[in-house]
Amino acid sequence: MRDPRYDILFEPLAIGPVTAKNRFYQVPHCNGGGYRDPSAAAAMRGIKSEGGWGVVFTEQCEMHHTSEITPFIELRLWEDKDIPMLAKMAGKMKEHGALAGIQLAYSGINGPNLYTKEVPRAVSPGPIRTFTNDPVQARALSKGEIKDLRRWFVNAAKRSKAAGFDLICLYGAHGFGIFQHFLSRATNMRDDEYGGSLENRSRFAREVIADMREAVGDTMGITLRVSLDETIGDLGFSNAEVRDFVEMNKDLPDLWDLAHGTWEDCSGPSRFKEEAAQEALVKGIRELSSKPVVGVGRFTSPDVMARMIRQGTLDAIGCARPSIADPFLPKKVEEGRIDDIRECIGCNICITGDMTMSISRCTQNPTFMEEWRKGWHPERMNAKGASQSVLVVGSGPAGLEATRALAERGYDVALAEAGTTLGGRVARERLLPGLSAWGRVADYREYQISQKPNVQSYFDSELDAESILEFGFEHVCLATGAKWRRDGVSRQHVVPMPMDDSTPIYTPDDIMDGKRPSGHVVIYDDDHYYMGGVLAELLRQEGCEVTIVTPSAYLSDWTVNTLEQHTIHKRLAEMGVEIVLNRGVTRIGKGHVVTNCTYTDRTSELGCDAVVVVASKLESNQVYADLKARETDWADAGIKTVKIIGDAEAPGPIAWATYAGHRYARELDGEDIGDALPFRREITELAAE
Ligand code: ADP
Ligand code: SF4
Repeated sequence: MRDPRYDILFEPLAIGPVTAKNRFYQVPHCNGGGYRDPSAAAAMRGIKSEGGWGVVFTEQCEMHHTSEITPFIELRLWEDKDIPMLAKMAGKMKEHGALAGIQLAYSGINGPNLYTKEVPRAVSPGPIRTFTNDPVQARALSKGEIKDLRRWFVNAAKRSKAAGFDLICLYGAHGFGIFQHFLSRATNMRDDEYGGSLENRSRFAREVIADMREAVGDTMGITLRVSLDETIGDLGFSNAEVRDFVEMNKDLPDLWDLAHGTWEDCSGPSRFKEEAAQEALVKGIRELSSKPVVGVGRFTSPDVMARMIRQGTLDAIGCARPSIADPFLPKKVEEGRIDDIRECIGCNICITGDMTMSISRCTQNPTFMEEWRKGWHPERMNAKGASQSVLVVGSGPAGLEATRALAERGYDVALAEAGTTLGGRVARERLLPGLSAWGRVADYREYQISQKPNVQSYFDSELDAESILEFGFEHVCLATGAKWRRDGVSRQHVVPMPMDDSTPIYTPDDIMDGKRPSGHVVIYDDDHYYMGGVLAELLRQEGCEVTIVTPSAYLSDWTVNTLEQHTIHKRLAEMGVEIVLNRGVTRIGKGHVVTNCTYTDRTSELGCDAVVVVASKLESNQVYADLKARETDWADAGIKTVKIIGDAEAPGPIAWATYAGHRYARELDGEDIGDALPFRREITELAAE
């Protein structure tokens, strides 16, 4: 039964001529699949509809071939040929009563046109602004071309209508959409009627919306997504100017969709941004217009959501990541199942799918983007197979997810953990600076498991091959994790590096075990994800003098993909951590390390009191090896299969481990598929000639 406190979240909301059934609004978000994997993306959106969202949007859809953002893979609506693919998506969105929305993007100064080879057109000329710093400049749109662009928007609106969408979102946020480029003085230097005063800079948005309304406004709602603050000071589209713009154009769109600054600002990870972080920027804007307002803020708590609406800050709760982590969030609120909500942890792994042009994953929801490829549903497991009992060894993210999902299928599961808490690496990493929300990976699963009569958890139970053979479970799943290496082996060193034992050397595991260096600490980071930077932050906070040395050109290099590299560098620099880039460590000597330049190999000594080595990880796979060595004893022990999963098989980010756990549970007792591909794949149809 729904808690009456949340009734307000279930009131319908009119958006122009259409009405959303509730206030749960899935704002546009990328998924790394886009035009390459349209059926996978469509099925993913369909699951959101099934999960109760009142509004479900596509990701950004490039609406004309003269502006595209290759290498990033989004959607395209360039010609009628694109309609069937988008119609499939809209159909899936509407299957369970959500309004189907499409986000139309013309990228302007943000689109390098690497695929179409068209000369980029922007509001004013200038170098293309992307993550990839392409050596390409855009030229200014002529007035005639602005007219063309208006017509192209109308064409795209008509095609969107033909595809069955109910809502159009015009993209003018995150620095990505041309509406913002017109509005901001940083990208609009025009001296005609489209530049200069705010009124002039608003002209394009007013014209396009008027054109569209005439074309499709009788049946479609038109929303405008603008940045709450361009965060580049007064020259940009500041929060004050956003407010002036809304006031000046009170009833312009049917709904205001407000999103913070750059994408990095808007989708900040939990390490740096709290839930509802944009509240101050959005507060009061609703009073400037008679149209409803939607805003985002990694909302996972229905209390915060209800408060946003009750106090009049927002009319609808915009969610991207929370809807990825739990597509059934609205349903769970409606059914009074608050404890079952799988809360987003704010790790931004989902975003890496887009940034690496692969396909997205979610740490919390391993079924994300596998709804069509593998037929995985986020709330329903496949039926139980022929066997009955499974022993899961290790309760990290892999073991926990395997246990949860196996129990859901109906197996009797014994979970053995060597330590005294569930969670494995997550139980340890959640105590590091900024990572407390990551603990939700364990919390969610621990609660789910506690509700299952068919799971028994055993603590202080470090199992070996002998004891596992004695137990006689039908299936053994080894999720025994991995340990950080002490010998420096990673990318720079493929064999152990020379180390003088008289210098204290620590691994991340040592630090997480509570051991501490003192004085001047050198952190050698050849891992390149978050751990080196997080430990630098911790040790600096605790008073050490910290120098972090990395062979990469960027600190915490891979976090470019989680949109936090900039913030990490800024934070550490401001804390007084010395950051040494483009240098490796060739050896650890007595009271110093020898560093080398990655380009010239020139070396120099750096004095220190201790070294923290953040290299690669070593799989904890001894039990697996011992069991494999005794394979002939399995049948007598009643064991049918032994598998190793997660970090114990091959270390990776937490999302890789939850995926491995889920996959194990799905595939247990499954048919042998031989050499067949383990997922469905979409292939571009060959043209007739
Ligand atoms: P993953 O990320 O693959 O889930 P973790 O390193 O997070 O791996 O978790 C592994 C867990 O397995 C740890 O909690 C560890 O204590 C536990 N573990 C490792 N070896 C054994 C063992 N032989 N018996 C029981 N538990 C084990
Ligand atoms: Fe949230 Fe991380 Fe999942 Fe993205 S990958 S939705 S940030 S839990």
